[in-house]
Amino acid sequence: MTLTTLSNDPITHTVACNLCTGCGACAAAFPALIRMVDDPVNGRRPVVAPTMAGLEAAKAAASLCAGSGADYTTLDRKDAVDQDWGPVLATWEGWAADKEIRHRGSSGGAVTALSLFALSSGVVGGVAHIAPRVNDPRLNEAVISRDRTGLLRGAGSRYAQASPAEALGEIRSGEVPVAFVGKPCDVASVAKAKAADAGLAAKLPLTIAIFCAGAPNLVATDRLLDRLGVPKEATLTDLRYRGDGWPGLMQARYLDENGVEQVSEGIPYSEGWGRILQSERRWRCRICTDHTGAFADISVGDPWHNPPAGKADAGRSLIVARTSAGLKLIEDAIAAGALVATRTERDVIARAQPNLMAAQGAVWGRRLAMRVTGMKVPADKGLPLFRYWLRLPLREKAQSLGGTIKRIVRAKLWRPVTVRGLI
Ligand SMILES: Cc1cc2nc3c(=O)[nH]c(=O)nc-3n(C[C@H](O)[C@H](O)[C@H](O)COP(=O)(O)OP(=O)(O)OC[C@H]3O[C@@H](n4cnc5c(N)ncnc54)[C@H](O)[C@@H]3O)c2cc1C
Ligand code: SF4
Ligand code: SF4
Repeated sequence: MTLTTLSNDPITHTVACNLCTGCGACAAAFPALIRMVDDPVNGRRPVVAPTMAGLEAAKAAASLCAGSGADYTTLDRKDAVDQDWGPVLATWEGWAADKEIRHRGSSGGAVTALSLFALSSGVVGGVAHIAPRVNDPRLNEAVISRDRTGLLRGAGSRYAQASPAEALGEIRSGEVPVAFVGKPCDVASVAKAKAADAGLAAKLPLTIAIFCAGAPNLVATDRLLDRLGVPKEATLTDLRYRGDGWPGLMQARYLDENGVEQVSEGIPYSEGWGRILQSERRWRCRICTDHTGAFADISVGDPWHNPPAGKADAGRSLIVARTSAGLKLIEDAIAAGALVATRTERDVIARAQPNLMAAQGAVWGRRLAMRVTGMKVPADKGLPLFRYWLRLPLREKAQSLGGTIKRIVRAKLWRPVTVRGLI
């Protein structure tokens, strides 16, 4: 079923122009008039009620949307490291002291350990994050957890569409402060929402971002399930993309025709991401300017410069403090024994994530190709995108321009995105 038509409202326009990241902030602000829908191809995207009230809601929600543009001039950046990655006060390599959290975590379980510490130390009374939907683990839902069991639902990366900022409404109306966990684009919209609403800012003292090279769609998840050998008619009960060791296997559980639970074949992260999932990242991800969560208090990723020895090694996380609140939480968590971590040099991100550095470099060329072909680009402010592009080898520079024009023509990317599907 087609759910959107080209409309004049700014949220539908952002979706239509391929600029929406699917964060969910607009829907959280106006749940009766904007709702998130799982489109198998385009991702989880907002649909605005086709009424005057819907138009007014979308106009108001547009100021919360980092998909259409983020302002990096608001960030406190002091040196070349900060210019490249957003504020980096300090970095560590470490893991959750809790063995189960470390094992189930995507990297070293640092996000879950820090979230749990924020709860147990009274910094917050809840943590907003995403978790697989119980009735369909191919999809994700925004939840607020208040204990370890709740948090463990979300441990492990979900290389799939998810809209954690849908929780903003519940956070705003709740009684206690809540921490927020999401991808960099989710956190960027949350930062805009906090800047626009002092009441929300008071309820949201901490944000944690996971590093992100791009979110694949539902089509990719279904392809993964085919590769894992899950029968089409089976009832899926669990799907893990990462975790249970570092990086861990991609593996599913399902009920067969006799109602007996089966465990699928497990495939390595390198195969699942490299051969199945990454090709279905949305176009918005290819012009993303923040893969490491510049607007967060804390960011966490993989220390790939120090790779795992096997398919399911003991996990390790790369942890970045970006604000004084983030720095304090990390230092307190280490002192309390919740997090085991060793300080590293601040320039470690470039060594750990050369792919993200290259992705950042290609953005200026890709966006120029979009402009040349009449496409709209995000109105980001305060990033030296041209300087990042100049660092690319000649071949990659040419590819970012010529290759993108070819791609735009081949995929007809100028055509307005229309959201289909309703789940
Ligand atoms: C789409 C995607 C792309 C990624 N790309 C990179 C990359 O390029 N480089 C890199 O180093 N790491 C990447 N990761 C891995 C990610 O950075 C790790 O999850 C991070 O290191 C945290 O590990 P952890 O063990 O500390 O987290 P855990 O303790 O396992 O907690 C993970 C947290 O992330 C949340 N989460 C999981 N999936 C999503 C999602 N789709 N949207 C919003 N929140 C989510 C969970 O709710 C949970 O709170 C990616 C993850 C995803 C989901
Ligand atoms: S990026 Fe977020 S706020 Fe903007 S339109 Fe998409 S879901 Fe809404
Ligand atoms: S690559 Fe950027 S836009 Fe895409 S999901 Fe990750 S943070 Fe969001």
